[in-house]
Amino acid sequence: MATDYYGLLGVGRDATSEQIKRAYRRLARDLHPDVNPDPAAQERFKRITAAYEVLSDPQKREIVDLGGDPLAPGGGVGAGQGSPFGAGFGGFGDIMDAFFGASTPRGPRSRVRQGADALIRLDLELAETAFGTTRDLTVDTAIICETCKGAGTAPGTHPATCDTCAGRGEVQSVQRSFLGQVMTSRPCPTCGGTGTVVPHPCVSCGGDGRVRARRTISVKIPAGVEDGMRIRLSGQGEVGPGGGPAGDLYVEVHELPHDIFTREGDDLHCHVSLPMTAAALGTTLTLNTLDGEEVLDVRPGTQPETVLTLRAQGVPHLRGVGRGDLHIHIAVTTPTRLDDEQERLLRELARLRGEDLPVSTRAHGGGGLFSKVRDAFNGR
Ligand SMILES: [Zn+2]
Ligand SMILES: [Zn+2]
Repeated sequence: MATDYYGLLGVGRDATSEQIKRAYRRLARDLHPDVNPDPAAQERFKRITAAYEVLSDPQKREIVDLGGDPLAPGGGVGAGQGSPFGAGFGGFGDIMDAFFGASTPRGPRSRVRQGADALIRLDLELAETAFGTTRDLTVDTAIICETCKGAGTAPGTHPATCDTCAGRGEVQSVQRSFLGQVMTSRPCPTCGGTGTVVPHPCVSCGGDGRVRARRTISVKIPAGVEDGMRIRLSGQGEVGPGGGPAGDLYVEVHELPHDIFTREGDDLHCHVSLPMTAAALGTTLTLNTLDGEEVLDVRPGTQPETVLTLRAQGVPHLRGVGRGDLHIHIAVTTPTRLDDEQERLLRELARLRGEDLPVSTRAHGGGGLFSKVRDAFNGR
């Protein structure tokens, strides 16, 4: 059944083109998606726009008046596929421009476009993330073509108007939908929406206005950066098509695991095992910190799971002043094998400390089963 285009606009079959235009303008002012976000209104807007498209064209209107439907399949215009609404309102832009001025972005787009951002991962040692460094990075990216200075045309030639779209940058097609036929437009496949073609492309860049090149840039890594952080180098990404402004280059910090230290925020942690005797007698530890060798006093009688802290020996804070701390976690190891002499000495020690009898038979003073063990640790 043919669509009632006159009914959609609320005009009679004898309406003049001026009356049709007025009727459409009146309806469109209420229904245009710029002013009425209601989905139902948008559907209706598509239908009245299709009606106006047909009735404002004398040839299409004649088909309607003869009982046909100029937007029906086989009407000489290829029926498109896909979503009936996916293409949006772009195809009605010229109509809308007539009524609303430049409410819909229109026309061919520029050949010159912003370049893409680029991302590089950079492996850094802990000392480098902590204190900062300067690294030379080799970047494989698009730079402006020197031959054509980004224009994409061979020397002495110019872009020509695209024949497919006549310079408009878009082509229109009619798509079927359950609303009837909907006119849609899409970027011209020949010129990519620019409205122009380059008949004599620059031989250096093939018309793109840019070429791939390898270059080396120097990147300053600030002190205190963390794994996963990105450093933005403005304008160091790819140059855009047609010599457009370059995108940004992001350098993502990847901190390599350290042999000794693990990092939590700006604090550093490490683990040191001490023999039972060293923990009991006290000792000194030599530790390779980020700042060099540090000699650490371990007091006599140091207990397992003691944490020694060196203030401000961690990672410098990225923002503000100061540094994190360095925490040394002490583990105490018990000998697993004793030769005869060692066992004799340990038994002698135990006897001297009154710790030589089985603990369970020596419970005294209400301390219970483990009082002996606890007393031994506490140095009694
Ligand atoms: Zn070129
Ligand atoms: Zn074109």
